[in-house]
Amino acid sequence: MSAVVNDIIKIMDGIAPRELAESWDNAGFLIGRRDNAVKKIMVALDVSPEVVQQAVAQKVDMLVTHHPPIFKPLKAICDSSWQSALLLKCIENGIAVYSAHTSLDSVLGGVNDVLAEKLGLQNVTTLVNGCEDGGSLGRVGTLPQKMEFDAFAAMVKRVLGLEFVTGISAGKVVHKVALCGGAGIDFVAEALEHGADTYVTGDIKYHEAQNAVFSGLNLIDATHQGTELPVVTVLADKIALRLAAAGLGAQVLTAHETLLFKQY
Ligand SMILES: [Zn+2]
Repeated sequence: MSAVVNDIIKIMDGIAPRELAESWDNAGFLIGRRDNAVKKIMVALDVSPEVVQQAVAQKVDMLVTHHPPIFKPLKAICDSSWQSALLLKCIENGIAVYSAHTSLDSVLGGVNDVLAEKLGLQNVTTLVNGCEDGGSLGRVGTLPQKMEFDAFAAMVKRVLGLEFVTGISAGKVVHKVALCGGAGIDFVAEALEHGADTYVTGDIKYHEAQNAVFSGLNLIDATHQGTELPVVTVLADKIALRLAAAGLGAQVLTAHETLLFKQY
């Protein structure tokens, strides 16, 4: 049986239920027609120029992304900004768009669990419970063995396939690690409450870093993109499994996304 856009929406609602999304989020079905046929799906972190280019070149019918390409209310869909030009390109090429975002951050097996698994954490629990609408952002777990900060930073870089991470040691040996994929520096207090010695997240600013480190928390900034990219292949596999289980024939591809920040 061939799939339509609505089948993929239902599959995504099963993988990352929308009620787990934060109230400020704009996740879900964003572009397209529910009854359009879907033969090819592409999973990506972002609706970026390189992703849309690949989706068009590979004649993809639907993009499933983590970050929603529409966040603030739109005033126009034309080629006057790169963002609305990308939306226009999706519409012109019949590419539907669904974005999961904070529901995928929260859900069991989502962004943060994938990151915790990559880092080899054990006894993983949620970092922030009872976010709006029952979501649970971030995770805390322990390393099988204590590590020096330098070795841990090198390990994070390696397992996430990154060119670099930045970090600051607060002088603690690494054992109990808190993490939040994307921009999670707002949860320093929660990391400390859980007794974490180290916090891995992205998008850390100078004064936020000072606050964390002077409070006794080692910090690793593994970049927003670097901490969230690992979920893409996991999500693609989940969609493919659910399509097969439902007897729906559609191919699931993953986009090739280059790391935005380079080190010079
Ligand atoms: Zn993000």
